[in-house]
Amino acid sequence: MADRYSRQVLFSDIGEVGQEKIRSSRVALVGCGALGSVSAEMLTRAGVGKLRLMDRDFVEESNLQRQSLFTEEHVSKGVPKAAAAESTLRAINSEVEIEGVITDVRWDNIEGLCRDHDIIVDGTDNFETRFLINDVAVKHSLPWVYGACVGSYGISFAFESGTFACLQCLFERPPEVGTSQTCDTVGILGPVVHVIAAYQVTQVLKILTDQSPSRKILQVDVWNGTWQTLGAERAKSQQCRCCQQHEFRFLEGEETTRMTRLCGRGAVQVSPQQKGPPDFHDLSQRLDKSGQVDFNQHMMRIQIEGYEIALFADGRSIIRGTEDISEARAVYAKYIGN
Ligand SMILES: [Zn+2]
Repeated sequence: MADRYSRQVLFSDIGEVGQEKIRSSRVALVGCGALGSVSAEMLTRAGVGKLRLMDRDFVEESNLQRQSLFTEEHVSKGVPKAAAAESTLRAINSEVEIEGVITDVRWDNIEGLCRDHDIIVDGTDNFETRFLINDVAVKHSLPWVYGACVGSYGISFAFESGTFACLQCLFERPPEVGTSQTCDTVGILGPVVHVIAAYQVTQVLKILTDQSPSRKILQVDVWNGTWQTLGAERAKSQQCRCCQQHEFRFLEGEETTRMTRLCGRGAVQVSPQQKGPPDFHDLSQRLDKSGQVDFNQHMMRIQIEGYEIALFADGRSIIRGTEDISEARAVYAKYIGN
């Protein structure tokens, strides 16, 4: 496969030396939805050494419009996104070590998942996780590349630890839940995802080949045709609790909850108190009479009394049919246990 990367190697700012750096790199990608799918595909085609993708969700029909690694078969089988992405990416480039991890990236597992990598790519859909990534990145001196899209608008920026600002220098804390627009309330266009992912992956390739990423924040509205770059050369905030005082509040779990309302999706995620794999066979026998149950090695889907419960092998559930935390807690306790 000597030809595989020939066009990228011909590009003089990469060359043979850059390609070798890309080949020996380890990239952690948090979230494999729209941005994550597109970034993962480009990184895999570019020939990174190792790509670890983490995602908590499973593929649904409404994802197919923009999440380019997934197919109708993934929807009908209810495949978790991390597993679906892993199989698609392996078929694209067998030289890359692809590892899909079906998990909710949280304060208590993110360091173990991301630390041994050269860079973290943001494919998340929420600020809480981005602040968590920022904590890990600052703590372990890792670069990370932020990206977000909603409607026809997208934004991206590369954070490098050191002299430049971290996410918390720019924003002290995440916006309150429900105050920012989401894909579930105002929709999203496929093209803006590709623009932002393209910018993110370009920054990743520059950083992996030891070149400075752009110090500009890219803001794009593909529908209105507006492209703006804002200077972000601003140095660190001297008061920043994260990069100046090394208080990693998000990593310490101070800002997280066990129940997460998945905004606009009519669903609540419930994390188990005790970790350990649920027994799908046992549960399916127990619930078979009162509801409709099916499962594969990754997850179980239960339709029962107007709720749809997706139970993952790590014990976590996504309960659809309510956005009410206490109702979800009751449903979880009733059918799954604690
Ligand atoms: Zn900072």
